[in-house]
Amino acid sequence: MPPPPPSTAAAAAAQQLESLLPRLATLSHHEQFHARLLTSGLLGSHPPLRARFLDRLALSPHAAALPHALCLLRSLPSPATNDLNAALRGLAASPQPARCLLLLAGRLHPATAPAPAGAPPRPRLDALSLSFALKATARCSDAFATLQLHAILVRLGVAADVRLMTTLLDSYAKCGDLPSARKVFDEMPVRDVATWNALLAGLAQGTEPDLALALFHRLAGSYRELLPREEPNEVTVVAALSACAQLGALQDGLGVHDFARKIGTANNVRVCNSLIDMYSKCGSLSRALEVFHSMKLEDRTLVSYNATIQALSTHGHGADALKLFDEMPSWIEPDEVTYLAVLGGCNHAGLVNDGRRVFDSMRVPPNMKHYGTVVDLLGRAGHLDEAHDMIMRMPFPADIVLWQTMLGAAKMHGNVELAELAATKLAELGSNVDGDYVLLSNVYASKAWWADVGRVRDAMRSNDVRKVPGFSYTEIDGVMHKFINGDKEHHRWREIYRALDDIVSRISELGYEPETSNVLHDIGEEEKQHALCYHSEKLAIAFGLISTPPGETIRVIKNLRICGDCHVVAKLISKAYGRAIIIRDRARFHQFEDGQCSCRDYW
Ligand code: ZN
Ligand code: ZN
Repeated sequence: MPPPPPSTAAAAAAQQLESLLPRLATLSHHEQFHARLLTSGLLGSHPPLRARFLDRLALSPHAAALPHALCLLRSLPSPATNDLNAALRGLAASPQPARCLLLLAGRLHPATAPAPAGAPPRPRLDALSLSFALKATARCSDAFATLQLHAILVRLGVAADVRLMTTLLDSYAKCGDLPSARKVFDEMPVRDVATWNALLAGLAQGTEPDLALALFHRLAGSYRELLPREEPNEVTVVAALSACAQLGALQDGLGVHDFARKIGTANNVRVCNSLIDMYSKCGSLSRALEVFHSMKLEDRTLVSYNATIQALSTHGHGADALKLFDEMPSWIEPDEVTYLAVLGGCNHAGLVNDGRRVFDSMRVPPNMKHYGTVVDLLGRAGHLDEAHDMIMRMPFPADIVLWQTMLGAAKMHGNVELAELAATKLAELGSNVDGDYVLLSNVYASKAWWADVGRVRDAMRSNDVRKVPGFSYTEIDGVMHKFINGDKEHHRWREIYRALDDIVSRISELGYEPETSNVLHDIGEEEKQHALCYHSEKLAIAFGLISTPPGETIRVIKNLRICGDCHVVAKLISKAYGRAIIIRDRARFHQFEDGQCSCRDYW
């Protein structure tokens, strides 16, 4: 029933309250406002004011505000769509976004079954209600709920709303359902730049960064003919740069940078931050630093510092990372990402005292990764007891990665007692990967305790141990080539394997001997050499050698840490063939030149 037209006095009261709305700060302000709405009768007679108040209340940061808003909503005899939307919006942004979906489900108006007689009227859902619910499904990563909302929005006849469909696409992408996201995109008759950006970002951050790049090229290639509302902007550039960073595709990254200059977004702060990250992950520290130094001091944000410190760290310039950390302006407060980056820098450069100092000075509570980095730093440097103490003093139990770090350190320093402790903990935590067994077996082997080596081998057989497959990428003329250990999938595999034979004979003249301790002692020596010889990074380097002109740098990306043997081989190739080789492994960059690596064999 529409409320009667408000009297002039009521209108004046409404106007006065309206002007107070932006100034509500504390919970008690909100409560007083609620009381005024009730006593003035405006709560029932002025739905727009009520909905705006509900909206503010539901989004207020006070913990008690949202429950208060829901209570108010339930007390309304005939809530309007805007009232419901205010509550949905608040719930979608709350720590429990799933409750947004519950509220929506309770208000659903089945088109086929009218509400039973006497039941309170239910507000109609509109595009906005669904868009808040879709934001909630994205935050819950609930692809099935997204699908259900998709069905509802088709039934409600709001599927022509570009913004709503973009939110739907974004929700599918964030739930990891990229095929559905693409289908929504393909079926949209009208799109705007936000639509393109949502799909691009979804692909870039998901499992298909190469598709993201293809989409970007389609957009960049035709952008002169695009409608104004579809013109790429800085969000487009940021998503494309994130795809390049994931792929380590430097040539594409340079192309996106050029494009950013062309459309005038190259100096945008978010674009600069993404450029630093992209150049660093594509192996070009100098370009990353160039972008950072080109930014005005007042433009640099926490993200700029984090990306640059991280770049210096992963490229092995721990001292420079520390210097930049110490030089951060006082108005920028370091966060957990900053600390992790600078501790990682100390770790990669073996700066034990600096690492301890940074860790002790942390102004945010350290998490598992911070502890892990310091344990790694201490463990590598031989301070095994201190590393173990640190694990024992942590306010939460150590995870698999941390015990693997401890096991690695114990192996490095031949400490059987700690190696066995770590292996026991790993077994308790249900870790079952071959690397753990290889490390423990190597500790025993280094002491020539062959019976124990045999015991590990038997355990490995009976436990059906998982092998994490190693793979490497290399980019040649803008095309990414993927190699898996020992694979013959590549169309030029015969040439690649011949090139590897040539490599082994040339580096043997420089004194190369395969470091077979990286392979478990359960196969013959010759087989071991064979297994090592075809590690994916070696295949990628060999392919790089035969498909690029002499003198050109070879860039490889590896999903796991590089093994000791591949590290030695890469050093020797850089000398024997006069090539610079850059390998990005899971932890850091290795830059090989003239027989040396930038990590100085410390990784
Ligand atoms: Zn290897
Ligand atoms: Zn190295």
